Amino acid sequence: MMADVRKTYESIRSQLAQLGLFGPDSLVMLGAGGERAVLDAAGNETSPALFAGVSAPLAVLTRGPHFPSCDGAGGPLRACTDDMAQMFGARVRRTARPGDGPAWLIPGRGFLVTARFGSELIAACILMEKMCLAQAAAPKLGGLHPLSGPLCALEHAVYLKKYSRNARKAAAGETPGPAKPAGDIPDLALRQAVIEYGKRLVAERLIQATWGNVSVRIDDGRFLITPSGVDYDRIRPEDVAEVRIADGSYAEGLHPSSERKMHRLIYAARPDIRAVIHTHSACCQVFAACRKDLRADGALYPCAGYAVSGSEKLAEKVAAVMAGHDGCVMANHGFVAGGPGLEEAFARAAEAEALAGTLLQI
Ligand code: 13P
Ligand code: ZN
Repeated sequence: MMADVRKTYESIRSQLAQLGLFGPDSLVMLGAGGERAVLDAAGNETSPALFAGVSAPLAVLTRGPHFPSCDGAGGPLRACTDDMAQMFGARVRRTARPGDGPAWLIPGRGFLVTARFGSELIAACILMEKMCLAQAAAPKLGGLHPLSGPLCALEHAVYLKKYSRNARKAAAGETPGPAKPAGDIPDLALRQAVIEYGKRLVAERLIQATWGNVSVRIDDGRFLITPSGVDYDRIRPEDVAEVRIADGSYAEGLHPSSERKMHRLIYAARPDIRAVIHTHSACCQVFAACRKDLRADGALYPCAGYAVSGSEKLAEKVAAVMAGHDGCVMANHGFVAGGPGLEEAFARAAEAEALAGTLLQI
């Protein structure tokens, strides 16, 4: 077996093991055609029929602690959050004989998840476990609100063709243009702080892959925000975009977050807010998937009505809630937190996730 196949296997295995998504029955498939290898949890080559219908270059059989709730649910699993719809489309079907497709539930065994590149594979496995958590906890909140099939199909197509483009290029080894000299970058310290908090959100598992976004106010008229669809560990200070609050115009550079209007309208409505963080954390997403307010111990984070991610409608609905609150559940999507600085917004997003976990008794 080629050394790079073994190296990729070890990387996938250790990342999934750290997340609690790699067990003794897990399998990893790497490569296509004659180059294909399937390795079991001990690292031995095997040739199970399970991957026969898969043409993607990467696949795993994964299961996390909440898999039994999906396994026992019966029927296909319908997407209840935007990230699920983007990654998998409208539903994940159950079968013992998977064909081509992003993911399948293999009864009694786990999920067969496929991907085009490594970081996509890890994100897809995390998403499946979040789906299982939602299945397990949703009855406590009155049940899940699945997204419509046509909307999911559209979200999935946009994810494949457009949204994942930067991450895919980076995984293929494509490097960005030459770095700008630090002296030529305005508000360098603020840009570095935005990047730092993005990395912290990934480390604390409040966001996955390129989802979520972070912004900080520069002054009354401008804010800095993470670029759209870029892995957090690859964002450079010059990639952080400067956006004008008055009209949403932005300086040359990488495309700013697709949720920049949401951040912009929050800054416009709340002069006291100086940082905004949007997360896709697991327990808040259960509230989001059930369209429920998050409330306890004097905290109230109402659920804003559903609108497609990145849309003007979503920005308006979220900003209307944030006019009177410091955090907000985003229906079928995630959470957004504001604060007088990045540390406070980060703490609020982390506390909301802890609170949601406590309320769900997870
Ligand atoms: P961006 O990568 O465009 O910031 O989008 C991520 C996200 O979470 C959209 O809701
Ligand atoms: Zn989002």
